[in-house]
Amino acid sequence: MDRGGPPQKHLVLVGGGHSHVEVLRRLGLARSETVRVTLIGRDRFTPYSGMLPGVVAGHYDFADAHIDLKPLCDFAGAHFIEDRVVGLDPDRRVVRCATGPLISYDILSINIGSSPNLAGIPGAEKVGVPVKPINGFLVYWHELVERVLAAQGPVRIGVIGTGAGGIEMVLAVQYGLHQLLMAAGRDPAMVTLSLFGRSDRVLAGYAPGVQARFERILRARGIIVHSNAVVIAAEPGLLRCADGRDYPVDEMLFVTEAGAPPWLREAGITLDQHGFIAVNLALQSLSHSTIFAAGDVASVIGAPRPKSGVFAVRQGPPLAENLRSSFTGGTMRYFQPQNEALALLSTGDRYAVASRGGWTMEGRLMWRWKDWIDRRFMRRYQILPSRPGETAGA
Ligand SMILES: Cc1cc2nc3c(=O)[nH]c(=O)nc-3n(C[C@H](O)[C@H](O)[C@H](O)COP(=O)(O)OP(=O)(O)OC[C@H]3O[C@@H](n4cnc5c(N)ncnc54)[C@H](O)[C@@H]3O)c2cc1C
Repeated sequence: MDRGGPPQKHLVLVGGGHSHVEVLRRLGLARSETVRVTLIGRDRFTPYSGMLPGVVAGHYDFADAHIDLKPLCDFAGAHFIEDRVVGLDPDRRVVRCATGPLISYDILSINIGSSPNLAGIPGAEKVGVPVKPINGFLVYWHELVERVLAAQGPVRIGVIGTGAGGIEMVLAVQYGLHQLLMAAGRDPAMVTLSLFGRSDRVLAGYAPGVQARFERILRARGIIVHSNAVVIAAEPGLLRCADGRDYPVDEMLFVTEAGAPPWLREAGITLDQHGFIAVNLALQSLSHSTIFAAGDVASVIGAPRPKSGVFAVRQGPPLAENLRSSFTGGTMRYFQPQNEALALLSTGDRYAVASRGGWTMEGRLMWRWKDWIDRRFMRRYQILPSRPGETAGA
């Protein structure tokens, strides 16, 4: 439809991840007459994984830990399509949605996160549950709570993955279930938790001081840690490990390392060796200048960083600027990743361990610090500012 204005280019954002929420906020603060924006998101309510363990532990409700993309899109003047992208043709410049439509773009930006890689664990998808997609996991969590509360005997829960996500989840699951069982007058000891990890220590890649603190906390909580346990198969009620050990478990939750969406492999764009989109420091695809990517799905060549929400958040501002520049011909801004990021890992019971480089500290104050940072982040996208020049009722 010709609206009589200047010709418009189409910017398509795929995924409402941590970087795109900031892109939308900035688009809203300075709308462009010449760019039409569409966000395609699998989930209208996009979860903030930093608060997920707090949801499981019972400290937050759904609304605390999710951003509603619809009002954020309205603020940005963007059209919101609730759908999942399942294909990309960079030569025709179209993306394909799960429900069928093809959406064409001039510039595309992808911020769809990652999911635990279950490819090497046959049976895992059938008998276990991956922590991501988070909305699917929350459905499983509520069902698990029902099963535990209805159980007559002991329940054994296995959490696979000893990275930050796995550690936070096992502690949150234990705390959340114990609180619910005690409130129901049941014995919390009926639930036992085990953690399975392929390395010899938990939190591989963290400073030894942080590893030691968490090993102590896990021991104190009675959570059994199976080290050097490479899970190779999941069967109903059983986890099988590469060294021949088998472990009976009633419930299994996978928080294994991040895997890339499989449809990217068919798109013909340059990927890294793990299947994530290879981008330069301007977050622009190495093979297609009309495609940008940020967050877990992107692999910044020359500046690799762990898959972590911190970096996805940091990529929001340069991504927003570069998307704008790609329409105006402006200069690209480089993402400057920090070498060391602050890590604040919760232990379920409103207690957290903070670390940065070799520095570590733990306590209730650290949890309050994390809670303050997380809530401040969420407020940025839940309580939107007035747009410049816009008056109430205009
Ligand atoms: C339990 C747990 C706790 C964690 N805690 C922390 C923490 O405290 N701090 C930290 O820095 N990191 C943490 N992480 C890591 C963090 O989750 C990720 O690094 C971060 O979420 C990546 O952000 P993102 O913007 O790339 O994608 P995400 O936040 O995963 O967002 C992806 C978005 O894309 C949408 N989407 C997905 N696929 C499609 C598709 N095909 N089409 C359209 N839309 C799609 C989703 O609905 C979602 O809106 C944690 C991870 C886990 C599992």
